Amino acid sequence: MVLPLRLLLSIAGLVVATTLFAMVLDSPGQRAALPLAIPAAAGGDGGSSSDPLPPPPLRVTIKSGDSLSAIFDQVGLSQQELQRVLAHKEARHTLRAILPGKELSFQLEEGNRLQRLSYAIDATRTLEVRREGDDFRATTIEYPLEHRVQFASGEIKSSLFLAAQQAGLSDKTTMEMADIFGWDIDFALDIRSGDHFAVLYEELYRDGEKVRTGNILAAEFTNRGKRYVAIRYTNPEGESGYYSPDGMRMRKAFLRTPVKFTRISSRFGKRFHPILNRMRSHKGVDYAAPTGTPIRATSDGKVIFKGRKGGYGRTVILKHGKRYSTLYAHMSRFGKGLRTGRAVKQGQIIGYVGQSGRATGPHLHYEFRINGVHRNPLTVRLPRAMPIEKKYRKEFRRIAEKMLAQMEQRKRTMVARLARQPEE
Ligand SMILES: [Zn+2]
Repeated sequence: MVLPLRLLLSIAGLVVATTLFAMVLDSPGQRAALPLAIPAAAGGDGGSSSDPLPPPPLRVTIKSGDSLSAIFDQVGLSQQELQRVLAHKEARHTLRAILPGKELSFQLEEGNRLQRLSYAIDATRTLEVRREGDDFRATTIEYPLEHRVQFASGEIKSSLFLAAQQAGLSDKTTMEMADIFGWDIDFALDIRSGDHFAVLYEELYRDGEKVRTGNILAAEFTNRGKRYVAIRYTNPEGESGYYSPDGMRMRKAFLRTPVKFTRISSRFGKRFHPILNRMRSHKGVDYAAPTGTPIRATSDGKVIFKGRKGGYGRTVILKHGKRYSTLYAHMSRFGKGLRTGRAVKQGQIIGYVGQSGRATGPHLHYEFRINGVHRNPLTVRLPRAMPIEKKYRKEFRRIAEKMLAQMEQRKRTMVARLARQPEE
């Protein structure tokens, strides 16, 4: 991890107009903030300093239909040389599965002898075959990915996805953020212009090139003036979760909505019923969504009803502990393997949106009952989440403080940077 850090330091002087800032995690306890430069095109073969400037390696991009023997021919290596390479199990195993579009790199020495052959299997593993006397040695080298902490923040003007995109967040990270705060904020209903967010997340790099987006480390979301903060914590057993700064799990006993990103077409309470043509009490909430949209169990529970139920059409009723039950109606079909009496997990797909029964269009009718009494699912106080285990509380607090401090510092840096930008 020393090399990428040095590499970054050498380009840290570049002024980069980007909304993102990178941080290099050199070791868990040691962090240095650095502006993120555009990924440098680093030499791909990881060449070390000991060789006295060998000629540059020959790189061959594998084409569809290419064979190893044809490629060896092409670079001027004999078939005997190929056989000697393939005599090694590790080399044989990898080279039999080379893929078009990838690259083989050949280091040749005088007399067209192969000095070294390398093939990047994926972002973290490279096969290296090196000459040792008259023979070769094959090894698969594992490169640890460099974790960089990125920061993005934005304000919502029209949609969360647009604001997140403008802030440089991937759709994956945006969805993760919506999942983390989805227990407290209904992203279909509650989002307003002026809501804002900030996210500290990881990006994984190898040789200065981004391999993929990692996890959100901490995030905050201010919705209609109320600020929510979440911090990722992984306990020594390797279980990860998001917690509020006071150590309460973000994940609640109940999902706020059984379908993702939809619009409410009818609320709880009195309303005019378009089919019955009279006023009646609406005992649930209707979520308009296209037919086939997955419906999720809002909490762990047991199926106590599955079938047709008059005007409700295809319906599932779940019981959660002694006090709570939820009902899902008008399904087009039931979830796979769903049976009365069986347990379901929170978030499990129990059916799909439809318009079976008495319905004017595809939607989910959702009811929430406490001790048999209908409650408004949108406003009912849901049971509190679990706090972090006592034995981990101290460590969590330490991590939370550090994350929050980092986030504040990034926010200040960004504000200062924006203030320095000339008006457009
Ligand atoms: Zn309804």
